[in-house]
Amino acid sequence: MTAKKFCVKVYGCQMNVYDADRVRTVLSSRGWEEVSEDEADIVMITGCSVRAKAEQKVWSELGLYDVSWQKNQRPLVALTGCIAQRIGEKALNRFPYVRLVAGPRHIGLLPDAIEQIYSHPKSRINLLDTDPREFHSLNFDSDNITIKRENKYKAYITIAHGCDNFCTYCIVPYVRGRFVSRSPEEIFSEAEMLINDGVKEITLLGQNVNSYGKDIGLNFAWLLEKIARLNGIKRVRFVTSLPQDFTEDIINVMANEETVCPSLNLPIQSGSDRILKLMNRKYSYAEYLEKINLTRSKIPGLGLTTDLIVGFPGETDEDFNASMNALREIKFDLVHSAAYSERDGTPAATMEGALPVDLRLKRLMTLNELQDKITLELNQELTGKIFEVLVDGPAPKGENLLQGRTPSDKVVIFEGSKKLLGEFVNVEITSAEAWCLHGVVK
Ligand code: SF4
Repeated sequence: MTAKKFCVKVYGCQMNVYDADRVRTVLSSRGWEEVSEDEADIVMITGCSVRAKAEQKVWSELGLYDVSWQKNQRPLVALTGCIAQRIGEKALNRFPYVRLVAGPRHIGLLPDAIEQIYSHPKSRINLLDTDPREFHSLNFDSDNITIKRENKYKAYITIAHGCDNFCTYCIVPYVRGRFVSRSPEEIFSEAEMLINDGVKEITLLGQNVNSYGKDIGLNFAWLLEKIARLNGIKRVRFVTSLPQDFTEDIINVMANEETVCPSLNLPIQSGSDRILKLMNRKYSYAEYLEKINLTRSKIPGLGLTTDLIVGFPGETDEDFNASMNALREIKFDLVHSAAYSERDGTPAATMEGALPVDLRLKRLMTLNELQDKITLELNQELTGKIFEVLVDGPAPKGENLLQGRTPSDKVVIFEGSKKLLGEFVNVEITSAEAWCLHGVVK
């Protein structure tokens, strides 16, 4: 088969960005070239199924190909990742030009499937995941795979797939399957490949990284320490953690290993024990707080972020106030907040006590107003301090402006030459907004 040109479009979270990099990697391993969408023979779309909004975006994106199809410009459109797992069959039925759908566990099979479509032009292929434990990994041992990724200096490595926790609002266990840890050898060889390729910062990725190894007789603290000590590694992060599995041995590795960044995303989801129980989260607010206090006592300067849902079915004013109080008491650096949205097939979607959407949005606004103030105050306290920043790209706006992140994962914007891209520089913070810091290189 002659070389093909492809593009990858991604809508969603870090897991989707990682899926998109896996798609790039397998397609490039056949000698195919990544190009802009206008030039592509193959359009790979990957996206998030966790939030209703991201799913709607993918639907409207798919609809756009109707125009090029009618104009006889016919790229092969493929849908991959967890969005494919959720809407793939419907997309195959609805759009004649969607020729291939593949769940996140089948990305390793994409090149063969595409070759098959080109040799049988009427074929359409469904590679949705049916066995929740099956996984077709990319074969990094087979000589020529070089990992392709969007950012040259920072990369994700998935350490486990799927999730067994079944929080009642969450679609992930249904679209990404049961929890399966990757073998440490595979993870180490991927990490070494990335380091040799110039990556300075690696983020270990999973729906619940803290559970790593429980199915293969290992544990996350062990893996984190090993990765932190790899030759040439500069920074390690991990996301996402689950409070009940975030244990003291992990905190100790964070505290003791210089390369592990002092940053933590620990989703709280609600400040109300009653709602946490309805969500099937297996911790209380008091237990959550205890872990935060322990972590902060061992890791000064910790950057702490969380995820929080408002308007869960049955959430009373009192429950909502408990979440507001949690923000006041804990003072997170950043809160990824969302108004609850029903995901079909999850237990919460049929729970009694669904709140009107306008009340959910009102609560979301109230919560965000409070958090914006807290974030701004915390950021302003950093004025005058100097941080080591990994310069990871040009700032989205402004000539000669670069952006990077502090070890605690705050975004910093500053003036500098593009020669600094990929370098560590010391930056003094001169002013702060809620969403970023501004500084000057020292
Ligand atoms: S831990 Fe809960 S919220 Fe996170 S992916 Fe698993 S089921 Fe979803």
